[in-house]
Amino acid sequence: MRFSPQLPSIYGETVERLTERLRAMGEPPFRARQVLEWIYKKRVTSWDEMINLPKPLRSSLASEYQLHPAQQVLIKRAGDITEKLLLELEDRSYIETVLIRYPQRGVGQEIARTTVCVSSQVGCAYGCKFCASGLDGWKRDLLASEIVSQLLHVCALEDERGDPDRKRQEAPFDNIVFMGMGEPLANYDNLVRAIHIINADWGLRFGARRITVSTSGLVPQILRLADEPVQFRLAISLHGATNEVRNAIMPINRRYPLETLLPAAREFSQKHGRMLTLEYILIEDINDSFEQARELAKIARDIHAHVNCIPYNRVPGLPWRRPDLPRQEAFVRVLRDAGVSHTIRKEKGDDIDAACGQLRLRKEKTAV
Ligand code: SF4
Repeated sequence: MRFSPQLPSIYGETVERLTERLRAMGEPPFRARQVLEWIYKKRVTSWDEMINLPKPLRSSLASEYQLHPAQQVLIKRAGDITEKLLLELEDRSYIETVLIRYPQRGVGQEIARTTVCVSSQVGCAYGCKFCASGLDGWKRDLLASEIVSQLLHVCALEDERGDPDRKRQEAPFDNIVFMGMGEPLANYDNLVRAIHIINADWGLRFGARRITVSTSGLVPQILRLADEPVQFRLAISLHGATNEVRNAIMPINRRYPLETLLPAAREFSQKHGRMLTLEYILIEDINDSFEQARELAKIARDIHAHVNCIPYNRVPGLPWRRPDLPRQEAFVRVLRDAGVSHTIRKEKGDDIDAACGQLRLRKEKTAV
């Protein structure tokens, strides 16, 4: 389904396009940067706050554009400081954005690193068997403005809390991962445009190396992405180290099996000169055997990738379970013994429907 909002959101505009629009309205080119500075650096939420713009221009902008294309309807907090924002879009679709805070050892103190997990579609067409996002299928792609809007909602939340150590002009988080609802590479053009806006000096000015795009394995788009000039990171959601296991839980593997996926991943890594990440959700008795761990180690060494193991978050209505801690440890030991760079995520957010897509499903089916 293609979605056209009543008014486009200004969050989807690049400086080049906005300059053109403003020129057509009889405004000088410098106005575009002025407007964008109010949005991304001063982070105002109304046209009236843009006080160095002439009043007639503010009125014209208000009749041409809307600001936020998404409204926050709910925040759920978990004890372990994971927070999930539920946002409502103009067509009454719901999406989720998650903040995850990881304590990290700094010089003489523990500091919190904040990662924002962003959605790229409403629902998902790829039907991975363990995932809540795909349970109701795909509804539509998000516009670039709806992707950027998720980050501005997080900015508003964090700015309000006012960490005094942060300069207001910086984005108040450390990493962005496109691992929320949807397959980001199936919404390629909007994704790349949103990343351009997030990264640009006139936009959020957020370093591309701190942005990770995660895919279930869309080979043509991985190859296309390898030629993009922006230096963001790529993560492959592998979740199975053989075709047999991947076929059982990820239908995409029938279209792009490991023999085509892994060379594409290697090509991306070589062109970008960066280590890839292989995401691996550990699911009891599905993909957590020693044999899978050994195959995974081989793949990781072969394509020079880091492995991120994520113990499964239960999804109501689905039968899958998380392996117990000794089993998780045994799996990871195989990677360690093989000399593979790896991490295992200390699971966060169990008490707030942490698996992506759960909160939205509940909101769409019942009142939360
Ligand atoms: S894991 Fe990703 S690609 Fe698979 S169904 Fe869920 S959102 Fe879609």
